[in-house]
Amino acid sequence: MTLSDFALVRPADVESAVAARRDHPQSRYVAGGTDLLVNMRHGIDGAAQLIDLSGIEELTCVKATLAGLRIGAGVKLGALARLPLIAERYRAVGEAATAVAGPGHRALGTVGGNLCLDTRCVYYNQSEWWRQANGYCLKHRGDICHVAPQGQRCHAAFTGDLAPALLALGAEVEIVGAAGRRRCPLAELYVEDGRAHLALAPDELVATVLLPPDPAPSAYGKVRVRGAIDYPLAGVAVALSVADGVAQRLRIALTGTNSRPIVLAGTDALIGRPVDEKALHEIERLVQKQVQPMRTTVASAQYRRLAAAGLARRLVASLAAS
Ligand SMILES: Cc1cc2nc3c(=O)[nH]c(=O)nc-3n(C[C@H](O)[C@H](O)[C@H](O)COP(=O)(O)OP(=O)(O)OC[C@H]3O[C@@H](n4cnc5c(N)ncnc54)[C@H](O)[C@@H]3O)c2cc1C
Ligand code: SF4
Repeated sequence: MTLSDFALVRPADVESAVAARRDHPQSRYVAGGTDLLVNMRHGIDGAAQLIDLSGIEELTCVKATLAGLRIGAGVKLGALARLPLIAERYRAVGEAATAVAGPGHRALGTVGGNLCLDTRCVYYNQSEWWRQANGYCLKHRGDICHVAPQGQRCHAAFTGDLAPALLALGAEVEIVGAAGRRRCPLAELYVEDGRAHLALAPDELVATVLLPPDPAPSAYGKVRVRGAIDYPLAGVAVALSVADGVAQRLRIALTGTNSRPIVLAGTDALIGRPVDEKALHEIERLVQKQVQPMRTTVASAQYRRLAAAGLARRLVASLAAS
């Protein structure tokens, strides 16, 4: 699986990157390349021109202010996990960054690339000859979904580890495009569609992630086939603060089960109540009801549903206990 030929441009600032993308609609942004280049080798993500974001200083800044923490989209996952402020105040983010792939990937892979990585499916993340032998599929070159053949939607799963941790902590993103800069909650970056899961205009890029200054204590956990290095079959982040045994703030977000990372709805009803067996049971029920795993991985959908619910329960219980 050889890499196809492409031109490489290396803009020095965000505006030049956006202009290069606008002027060459067939081009793609590349950061660490640990997702995109693999897909290009598989023949599922071709581009005549790559716009390398790694030389843009603005994207590599991390800045703590009274308004919160700004993390440039080009910050490497390994470096992010090593920041003392992340370990002290945004633990789920550090745990999620450390849970991504292996050390080599984390040395290259970036925050922006992790938030924007492609959705995955066992029928899609295969070599060209494998997919051809299987008649391709809706997501690329084919006209049928092997997971849900009756439908016209791709159910490939979003499997980024960082997004749920950032969502649980109430992150926002700054997005830059030819039309200017805009800021929105991270949740609005995503759409429940395995073929087009990012709400970005073609020329837009994620420039910065913004975290609030006073987050609740948080944690991240995932289940995967291989403990050493693997995408999440299900990943859960929880942010929970408790006073006198009673929940004050609670947000739960999940990855690996849907075509986008999701924030669990219904947790507000648990605020002001003790984190007891009844509450934990309710959380498990909410997760099981809201996640929509499909047959897109080697593990069954039901296993991923139950694993997500069990992980959420375990993380909430351990945060409440600590
Ligand atoms: C063996 C293996 C195991 C892996 N395991 C995991 C895992 O467990 N968890 C996990 O989350 N990931 C995993 N990955 C995927 C990948 O390594 C990480 O998600 C990484 O963070 C991707 O970042 P990157 O900078 O390399 O992205 P790139 O490959 O450079 O880009 C990924 C996508 O994002 C787009 N993009 C990049 N930056 C921006 C930006 N600023 N704005 C808009 N679009 C942008 C690119 O155009 C591309 O479409 C694995 C990869 C491999 C090869
Ligand atoms: S969910 Fe269906 S359309 Fe999407 S990648 Fe898998 S087989 Fe293809």
